[in-house]
Formats: sequence, structure tokens, C-alpha cells
Amino acid sequence: MSEKRVTHLHHRGLAGRRFVYVVRSRRSGGLSVGINLDPQKSCNFDCVYCEVIDRRAIALHRRRPPIAASEVAGELAAVLASRPAGGEPLRDIAFAGDGEPSTFRGFLPLARGVFDARDAAGLAGIPVILITNGSGLGREEMKAAHDLFAARGGRFWIKLDAGTEAFYRAVCRTVVPFDRILANLAGAARRHPVVVQSMFFLSDELGPPSRGEVDAWAGRLARVVRAGGSLAGVQVYTVARETMEAGVHALGAEALEEIAAAARHALDGVPVESFP
Ligand code: SF4
Repeated sequence: MSEKRVTHLHHRGLAGRRFVYVVRSRRSGGLSVGINLDPQKSCNFDCVYCEVIDRRAIALHRRRPPIAASEVAGELAAVLASRPAGGEPLRDIAFAGDGEPSTFRGFLPLARGVFDARDAAGLAGIPVILITNGSGLGREEMKAAHDLFAARGGRFWIKLDAGTEAFYRAVCRTVVPFDRILANLAGAARRHPVVVQSMFFLSDELGPPSRGEVDAWAGRLARVVRAGGSLAGVQVYTVARETMEAGVHALGAEALEEIAAAARHALDGVPVESFP
């Protein structure tokens, strides 16, 4: 995603923050406060288009150290308090950053602390978003976290970049089975409405996504709805920043719109947007 870290909010007293940062976000159309639970940049996926992950961290299977919920909440409170009066509007607070938050043990108390810090800053109307590859959403802790998000003005945004097992393997390069991702997405969407985020791109190795792949992807989304899931929206993206790996390029606006149109055709009444 094309998100630019904003430095004018880095006031004195905020130095040394490890987990919380501010970005100007294309996704939200304004400022977004990001929460990064993985400063060491490891992930259980190794997406071809990734812009953040340190592949050595994946190779070394670096373990993520526990994080004190109070530390994250304290950093968030400091950032929210530092916003200049009359400055750019804050659109959301997002668990995003580098790595996969849904696999983080202790996510639930940490999320509670984030909602509490948001409310204490008088910003209860600002949504809290979890941006996830979906791999950890089958865990009981994440189901409880989803209930928490739904009750307190938050939402899960779950990624689905493929319609077939083969394309998923080629793009996401993970040992997590595709069936688990699909089941977790469907389960989460049955629990509460979710947003699906999908990245499509042109790769020197894979070429552009084929028509068959796009139709299969749209069909997977339709199956989620047929199984009783609720999709609050679908966002179709392409790469917007330099990727860690060479040979990955943005798709044009027209190609993205064709992909979005396939989803609109498959999903009656679900808002589908493309972000060239
Ligand atoms: S899931 Fe996200 S952070 Fe992990 S490798 Fe893929 S793009 Fe990067």
C-alpha cells in the first residue's frame, strides 16, 4: 500500500516509539495511525509483492518477543495527544505495519488497550482496523478479538489475493494451506461483516492475472456470501511502492477496474472499489 510515514507528528517526547507510527494513507484518504507488532519484519507469508518483509527474518524463523499491552497503549495515547489542533483529520487506527498481527499471541489484551486509549483520547468515533492475511483468524483469541472489534467500532480487513491454490502458492509463498485461509475468511465473515483486500499486479515471472484466476477469485468471494458471510466491501489494489523483490509492477487502472467488475458481477450489492 502507498502509505507514507508522517514526520511532523514526531514531537519531542515521542522519540523511541517502537510500535506506533503515523502515515498519510491512500487507503483511508487521510492520516492513519499504524500499530506495528512486528518491528523485526517477519511474516508467515512471503508475498511476491511485499514491500516490508525482511526475507532473512523469515528464513531464520525469528520468534516475536511478547509485547506489553500497556506499552502499545501508552505509545498510542502519546501519538493521539500530539496531534496539532486543526491539523489533518485522523481517519483510522490500523494494526498494520510489518508482519502478521493475527498470529500474535496476546493480541486480545493488546487490542483492548488500543480501544481504551482511543476512547480516553476522546476519539471513540475513529475506527480501529485489523489488516490481516487471515492465517491466524481461526484461533479462539482472534474470534474474541473480532467480537471486541465489532462491539467497539472496529473492523477486520482480510486479504485474499487468489482464487486457485496454484496462484495462491505462487503469490503468497507460504506453508499455510489455502483451504485454511478460505475457511478463516468465511468464518470471520459469518461472525461479523469484513472487508476483503486483494492485491493484483504484473509480474515478470507470473505475468498478469489470467481471466480464469480473476473469475475463480470472484467465485471464492461469492461462496463466502452464499455460506452466510457478510462482506462490507472489497478493495482491489495494485503495488504502489517499491517491492522488496524486483520484477513486480503495478497494473493499470483499466485492468484493475476489470477485476473489480468481476467481483461486482459475482457479489450482488457489495461495494467493490479499485485503487490504481
Ligand atoms: S502478508 Fe503482508 S506483510 Fe506478510 S509477506 Fe504478505 S504482504 Fe508482506
